[in-house]
Amino acid sequence: MGNNSEALAYQRLAGAVFGSLCGDALGMPVEGWPPDQIKEVHGRLDSMRPGRLPKGSYTDDSQMMLSVLETLVKHKKIEPQDLARRFAENFEPERGYGGRTYDALNRLRNGADWRSISSDSWANGAAMRVGVVGAFFAGHFDEIKKAALAQCRVTHTHPLAQAGACAQALAVGLACDLGAKGEKPQTDIVTAYLAEQIEDISPEAADRLLALPDTQGLTEEECQDALWAEYEMNLRTMEAVCPALGAFLWADSFKDAVVMAVSLGGDTDTIGAMAGAMAGAYHGLDAIPKAWLDDLEQGPKGFAYFEKLCREALI
Ligand SMILES: [Mg+2]
Repeated sequence: MGNNSEALAYQRLAGAVFGSLCGDALGMPVEGWPPDQIKEVHGRLDSMRPGRLPKGSYTDDSQMMLSVLETLVKHKKIEPQDLARRFAENFEPERGYGGRTYDALNRLRNGADWRSISSDSWANGAAMRVGVVGAFFAGHFDEIKKAALAQCRVTHTHPLAQAGACAQALAVGLACDLGAKGEKPQTDIVTAYLAEQIEDISPEAADRLLALPDTQGLTEEECQDALWAEYEMNLRTMEAVCPALGAFLWADSFKDAVVMAVSLGGDTDTIGAMAGAMAGAYHGLDAIPKAWLDDLEQGPKGFAYFEKLCREALI
């Protein structure tokens, strides 16, 4: 690869990683809130705010993405046993883990075999962390799907969780390709492609994708109304992946995609992280507001560490 293509690959990968981190941190203070409450307390939530964690902190979504990225750097593929070990090592319960994942990681830390901790959860925990896989294997859709499924194996065996993780990773992969070509993604083409890719895993998940309304050209309020009418914005995997995709496809900028995703309410940090991964991959790292990046947490596994991993991933 020449310097130019390396720089572009970095823009897409770091765009997905920091996009996800920013969406997670922006949604953190309002996780679980209904949209009316978000609007009442924060107005248009478009800057980092403190919540149950300090301003700019990431939650379980990015902590698990961190482990996925670490194992990709080390092995250049998903190595489930190594990934499980990193999930356990990086686990900080105060980041806010979902019930079953919390139990699974506790069991791992107490010496359980990694092959014994997964559950048949349909929740979005395997999809919220997987966007980085789509950017890492950009241009190789079979690899993206394979790696997305491999990282599910540690924690999520339900077809809905697996299909959702594949859809999220493939959406980021598509965003990389289209962003590099400067092509605008079309809702019907994107949803048809993703649905076709996951239909064999879960026809129900494919149907939820195909229900995505075309949000392009709508006003901010019309886009919110269209997504609220169709999806629940909750822990059920496709109820997070689909509105995140809708927010990404609606917006003309990285910032608008993530602000839209978080404004929908419900599982805001996760939907923000998912939309952030797609929009970051599409628009590139340089399109992420500097003020957001500056607010991201520092510390041993903060901003600089993620930056270092993104560089190492491409070596
Ligand atoms: Mg979270």
